[in-house]
Amino acid sequence: MKDRTLLMIPGPIEFEPAVLAAMGAPTTSHLDPGFVEAFGQALERLRQVFLCPDGQPFIVAGSGTLAMDLAGANLIEPGDRALVINTGFFGDRFGALLERYGAGVTHLRAPVGGLPTLEEVERALKGASFKLMTVTHVDTSTGVVADVKGLAALARRYDVLLVVDGVCSVAGEELRMTEWGVDVALTASQKAISVPPGLALLVAGPRAMEAFRRRKTPVANYYADWGNWLPIMEAYEARRPSYFATPAVNLVWALNVSLGQILEEGMEARFARHRALSRACKAAIAALGLEQVPLKPEYAAHTMTAPRYPAGVTGADLLPRVKAAGAVLAGGLHPEIKAEYFRIGHMGPTKLGDLLATIGALEAGLAACGYTFEKGAGVAAAMAAWDEQG
Ligand SMILES: *Cc1c(COP(=O)(O)O)cnc(C)c1O
Repeated sequence: MKDRTLLMIPGPIEFEPAVLAAMGAPTTSHLDPGFVEAFGQALERLRQVFLCPDGQPFIVAGSGTLAMDLAGANLIEPGDRALVINTGFFGDRFGALLERYGAGVTHLRAPVGGLPTLEEVERALKGASFKLMTVTHVDTSTGVVADVKGLAALARRYDVLLVVDGVCSVAGEELRMTEWGVDVALTASQKAISVPPGLALLVAGPRAMEAFRRRKTPVANYYADWGNWLPIMEAYEARRPSYFATPAVNLVWALNVSLGQILEEGMEARFARHRALSRACKAAIAALGLEQVPLKPEYAAHTMTAPRYPAGVTGADLLPRVKAAGAVLAGGLHPEIKAEYFRIGHMGPTKLGDLLATIGALEAGLAACGYTFEKGAGVAAAMAAWDEQG
């Protein structure tokens, strides 16, 4: 019998049956003509999902952190300077990763739940000569969404490469690589791309590939070296099998199924559905009397929500009770406020009904903790906010 608990965390998420069926199908050779076709198609579809017709896609077995490593290892040479727009946990990680490859890293931080302004970023860019700037599109530790379009315009003006950690955003949050001028965007299979964990996905635009080709020093990471992977990606896209390291065969089959579903929905419809889900979730949280981590409503991401616990309720009290009522939610991640908030993921195939079930489970959990509120208010507010979207 299916475990009827909904997995509503910021990754991994609920997956479509057709995607899971591809995971469970008999494994083919990585040289099988059917697999070569699926891999080639997945590469072509990645360009469409990232809205980057002139980009070079990479599909490599690993998690989102490997996708970050693919960017850092291939674009940083010892002595390069990098600016990290740091909104939390994954900004710290990107800074540490870039330092490992010899970069001099400057962090531009904001208070927890905040966002550095474009003026502050511009001042930092004026103050030093950076090769590369990174930003976490949706910071999974705070639920804050960065202004990638504005940052890309600054990156172009100051001739800096912009690398977007889109692990909690790509295929959910609006992201237009070519139109906005983003140089690298990366993600992992288990978030809004909607495939079980195990694939690092990255698309590099022309300026990033040019910077890679102009390197004077070897890439200091053998597995992540684009020099090893580029011929493989080009071969599969030309529908020729090739080998550097064994691809995660079933995951690539599943990825191609999911990318097909994403493009069938259409990127604009998908962005709009994520906005509507987010509006409904945030309306429910407000109606239940809970605060949120993002300091302003316009800072709040559309792929997840980060509510604060009400006074007198802890994660240890609440989250198991919400799970017993049918939805798995995540605890805090940001070290400064870890015990003060929890996280709801609403990305990928999430439908209104999944969200209403989640809010219903949250209400049941809050009631079981002895928190006083008007029962049903969260579900009603979510439905009303969803209807506003039509
Ligand atoms: C999940 C996540 C990562 C890390 O991905 P893993 O697959 O856990 O390695 C990096 N950045 C962001 C924004 C994330 O949400």
